[in-house]
Amino acid sequence: MVSREDLRRLADFECPPGEFAVTFYYQPVTPKDKSHREESIQAKDLVRKTIQELELNGSSRPAVNDLHRILRLVESLHGNHGSAKLVFCCSTQNIWHEFDLPPVSFPTRLFVNRRFHLKPLAALFSDYPKLWVALADRQNARVLAIEFSQLKEELSVTSPLPRQGRSDGYAGYDAGHVQRHKEDEIRRHFQELAGFLKDAVLRKQFDALVFGCNDVNWPELQAQLHPEVAKKTLGHFSGEIASIPNDKAAAEALRVKRESLRKHHYSILNETLDESRANGRGVTGLRRVLRATELGEVDTLIMSQDYSGRAVECTNCRHLDSHLVPYCPVCGRATRELDDVCEALMPIAVRSNLRLVLLPNDEALNRIGNIAALLRFRADRNTNQLLAS
Ligand SMILES: [Zn+2]
Repeated sequence: MVSREDLRRLADFECPPGEFAVTFYYQPVTPKDKSHREESIQAKDLVRKTIQELELNGSSRPAVNDLHRILRLVESLHGNHGSAKLVFCCSTQNIWHEFDLPPVSFPTRLFVNRRFHLKPLAALFSDYPKLWVALADRQNARVLAIEFSQLKEELSVTSPLPRQGRSDGYAGYDAGHVQRHKEDEIRRHFQELAGFLKDAVLRKQFDALVFGCNDVNWPELQAQLHPEVAKKTLGHFSGEIASIPNDKAAAEALRVKRESLRKHHYSILNETLDESRANGRGVTGLRRVLRATELGEVDTLIMSQDYSGRAVECTNCRHLDSHLVPYCPVCGRATRELDDVCEALMPIAVRSNLRLVLLPNDEALNRIGNIAALLRFRADRNTNQLLAS
């Protein structure tokens, strides 16, 4: 399992000139295909092909050794129990990090570069990695934590059944009393769950929350939620909570999360495009995105999943420029060319805690050069305001 701390450490790494950092994403096929063999053959072919290319270029021996080690790893994976495998290595710097992840939406890929390839991983961390599921009916409550594919039960309570039938009363008086007593107990039960979730949200134990409950209980439960908990709530699914197994509840919650994220991602894109048209808190195209990033204006980077763009990076001040100029326009020193600007942009995004949204390719994205950013503020705007006041 990979943590945000791991991601930061990987983002800080850059190998000396002439050496190579190798990144390997291995995505097994879904178990129902039962064709791990084929996937593993493709992965091995990919690694072998890269070894040949490196050898042809006379590139560094350590990188080739790293790739041979990855090849041996692939041979021993046998589908990796359905988990994705990530390897980040650079043997000259004694680095070998290996992580298992749930099947996620990146294909098997191999990258040999100065820095590690972090885009798919960084996007995962923007997608609420810590998801909680709160399951409740009128007597039971269960809370599950899902971090990537790992499940943990955080809470499981069964409130005693309200005493019933002790007295049906006379002329309905006691019956009404029993009924009120029962409703009080149910309310208290929901309040206790809401209190538990409130404490957890204040301790930042989850990024997002999905409820599972009967539709009839949902309004009553929702009414008890602390505003901070309500803010993190993505939605609810309906079901008989007492009998639903944890893995099924987790699958339902992940479905709610995916739908919610998809809507959320497109609303961020639309907001960015509107803001950009109004010359406000949105920019599109690599040149403007790089500028906004350097000014510290960016809140969210948005790009198509397989976006890559050529750029240069200053070897001295690290300025990034979409014009392939040999000398840095900021400090005048030599630049070096990047085949893919993401190599330099992702570490900045990770270090600055920028949200990263990857979207499937489409026309709207294509028209704006497949990259955009939603801004927190506009530096020029603030300066003008300051000068005016
Ligand atoms: Zn420079």
